Amino acid sequence: MKIAIIGAGFGGMAAAYDLRRAGHAVTIYEAAEQAGGLAAGFKQPGWDWWVDKFYHHWFASDKHMLGLIEELGWSDQVLFPRPYTVMYHQGRDDDGRFYPFDSILAALLYPGLGWGLDKIRFGLVGLYLRLSSNWRPLEKTTVDAWMRKWAGDRVYERMWLPLVQGKFGPYAKDVNMAWLWARLHARTTRLGTFEGGFQAFADQFAAHLSEMGVRILFNARAERIATAAGGGLTLTVNSAEQHFDQALVTTSPGLLAKLAPQLPEDYLRGLLGLHSMGAVVMTLALDRQLSAEGYYWYNIPKSAGFPFLALVEHTNFVPAEHFGGDHIIYCGDYLEVGHEYFSLSEEELLERFIPGIQRVNPDFRREWVKGVWVHKTHYAQPVPLVDHSANIPDIRTPLPGLYFASMSQVYPWDRGTNFAVEIGRKAAGIMGQQV
Ligand SMILES: Cc1cc2nc3c(=O)[nH]c(=O)nc-3n(C[C@H](O)[C@H](O)[C@H](O)COP(=O)(O)OP(=O)(O)OC[C@H]3O[C@@H](n4cnc5c(N)ncnc54)[C@H](O)[C@@H]3O)c2cc1C
Repeated sequence: MKIAIIGAGFGGMAAAYDLRRAGHAVTIYEAAEQAGGLAAGFKQPGWDWWVDKFYHHWFASDKHMLGLIEELGWSDQVLFPRPYTVMYHQGRDDDGRFYPFDSILAALLYPGLGWGLDKIRFGLVGLYLRLSSNWRPLEKTTVDAWMRKWAGDRVYERMWLPLVQGKFGPYAKDVNMAWLWARLHARTTRLGTFEGGFQAFADQFAAHLSEMGVRILFNARAERIATAAGGGLTLTVNSAEQHFDQALVTTSPGLLAKLAPQLPEDYLRGLLGLHSMGAVVMTLALDRQLSAEGYYWYNIPKSAGFPFLALVEHTNFVPAEHFGGDHIIYCGDYLEVGHEYFSLSEEELLERFIPGIQRVNPDFRREWVKGVWVHKTHYAQPVPLVDHSANIPDIRTPLPGLYFASMSQVYPWDRGTNFAVEIGRKAAGIMGQQV
């Protein structure tokens, strides 16, 4: 069969890999100039490694991604350094500090929950969620309701509310409990990356696909997909029409709705009814290390008044020598698309962020900054509401030959490159069977 894939993110590339191996003629159309999608990176002169546009790492439990890499024979290029994650806490007598929070021992020593019953409830609830496999009843209630009941108001407000508020903003109280279950169930404290950065992996994968015979076209924006008169689909890319037997779209649900307005009305309504958050991430190259303690990931509650949700010192994860001695930090936030951060310039955003960075290291000065880059996306984090499984669009759309595999469908899992690979390969399996 002649198959088109829209998007050279990890979902699209994983699907192309299996479809090509099954003998199909596969073309990937990618609107950007590079592969990798949301996990793509950028490079500066003097940097040997890529820096992700949006900070990325893998978990040791990312079996679909790590399994694919093993199949490709590239496992020796996967690295699992030991970075340190910290959590903010403001005590009665201090201005707020960061405490290690990436092991059971560190969690036990974290002062934010005191030393009594709260800590035990936090531990027991975490253990239950980690061990339980039964997420279905959990999607019938919100994180807010479930946690208040089982962990108690104090534990919830100190430990979990900051996370859901940070990720989901106005939807924080409406997110279902299966989402939090999935994060606790599937994630590890061990964090990994690929030699050269995620972009190096994306480029290597794209080159391998090309060698296998997959056509990958960059700067190729799909504009419309419609059923063709004699069967199959007509795909319009950069104003030119092409004919295919099947097509797989790996973009946001909103974009699929625009690309294929011929889809039945109720299906379109379902796509447009799915909510998501955008993200704005500022990357800075500094002339020195920010965290003297070597911390990698700072969890920051919105209520503490920082201008961003997460601060990540990438070069406390991979050495600064890969970036010509530059120290790379990210300041990121999940935001609604209308948020003013989407319209601020790099300099304006830096001005907003400097006071927050100084709360992490009071010595930090503007003069330390050698470079500033800001990356923005409107589609960063799908929002799962109560009974969300009923809202997930099927990979097979009602339009014959048209398939859809996106971040919004990997539920109950939180989106991630691991699940992009899983759904891409699942879509390929379904498509391959339909002749
Ligand atoms: C801030 C942030 C942090 C993250 N952190 C992590 C992490 O630590 N670990 C992790 O594994 N994942 C992380 N993720 C999630 C991860 O990036 C995504 O889950 C994954 O990359 C999604 O892959 P995909 O192929 O489904 O979609 P995408 O990567 O979005 O790929 C879709 C592709 O379609 C292309 N496209 C769009 N429109 C068109 C068009 N009209 N025509 C042609 N092409 C088009 C896009 O350019 C894009 O390349 C993070 C995401 C964000 C935003």
